[in-house]
Amino acid sequence: PFRRAQRAAALSLSEIVRISEAARALQAEGKPVLTFGTGEPDFPTPPHVIDAAMKAARAGQTTYPPTQGTPALRKAIAAQAGFDFDPTQVLVSTGAKQVLSNAFQATLDPGDEVILPAPYWTSYGDMFTFCGAKQVVVETSAETGFLLTPEALEAAITDKTRWLLLNTPGNPSGAMYSEAQLAALADVLRRHPHVWVIADEIYQHIAYAPFASFVSAAPDLADRTLIVNGVSKAHAMTGWRLGWGIGPASLIKAMVAVQGQSTSGASSISQAAALAALTGPQDHLATRCDAFKSRRDMVVSALNTMPGLTCPVPEGAFYVFPSCAGTIGRKRPDGSVIETDADLCDYLLNEALVALVPGRAFGLPGHFRLSYAYSTDNLTEGLARISRALDALT
Ligand code: PLP
Repeated sequence: PFRRAQRAAALSLSEIVRISEAARALQAEGKPVLTFGTGEPDFPTPPHVIDAAMKAARAGQTTYPPTQGTPALRKAIAAQAGFDFDPTQVLVSTGAKQVLSNAFQATLDPGDEVILPAPYWTSYGDMFTFCGAKQVVVETSAETGFLLTPEALEAAITDKTRWLLLNTPGNPSGAMYSEAQLAALADVLRRHPHVWVIADEIYQHIAYAPFASFVSAAPDLADRTLIVNGVSKAHAMTGWRLGWGIGPASLIKAMVAVQGQSTSGASSISQAAALAALTGPQDHLATRCDAFKSRRDMVVSALNTMPGLTCPVPEGAFYVFPSCAGTIGRKRPDGSVIETDADLCDYLLNEALVALVPGRAFGLPGHFRLSYAYSTDNLTEGLARISRALDALT
């Protein structure tokens, strides 16, 4: 009989996948479900990027690429990072997700600890617990803008801590650290030289306030910082699967070894496309960021008029993470009680035909995440449906 490895048995089915499947089942029954569950831009990949990919394919760039990434792309990545990095410090992978997975596999032993501020992107924990590492969750709240405080960081560090995971702008909260806030965390880390930092900056270009990279806030910690970034969100290239890590050469070398025995180099065509995305025209970044900002404003102000919801104004990414604490304990029209954020999301899926993700999936119950990377028409309709369903609670 089939037997699953213990480390794989611990992997949970993502709540986001579960909700997408429930939404799809309703759609299959002919119900007009609006999904605000997933995090990918609704814009197309810029045409010059697609042209570059086609040109590369026609020119024969169709053979195995170097495992670490093509020299031209690594050079472009190092150049745009805004710090004095060498291309040997860059690893190109199949999405930012693989960069993270490489880093964990290359560094974590059973019993090691990773500090994970909540709310967090759902995949992080599964990726490093797969390596036997323990997640040390530090809850944040709307009162601190969903940001990790230096005091909370200090309290979470033990002699087993290997990584601090920072995600700015953050998924699902949209919270973004200022340079001063990053510098205050760096002050704590200077007292604990064994703690390394992963700065997941994948939403760098979807920022409504000035973006600060962890290395610019703490250049002296660059020798224990891994920057994670990619083209998925900024250039609407989620399907091309192309991301990168920038860090100390010793770490990158260990990550290249891991990747070399799993997927090898990232797709040669996607690498050519990413090179065009980084070196070609950049005006779509600002235009799209402006479009996301006006959707954010619309969504935040609508949610804040609804009974039981409180929605802070996020500074980046394309998510809002309102508290739904005021809906807990209220009754559905059938008399049953909404007891959790997941109950509320189930109710909104079945009654309002709107798919959202409960906060518990991100380690912070009592909230839900709505992705506004969707058309204004769909958002307007979806918000009206949520409002009607909430009004029907007693
Ligand atoms: N990091 C965060 C915080 C994300 O939200 C995502 C995607 O949802 C990723 C990384 C993965 O990005 P990629 O498409 O480059 O694998």
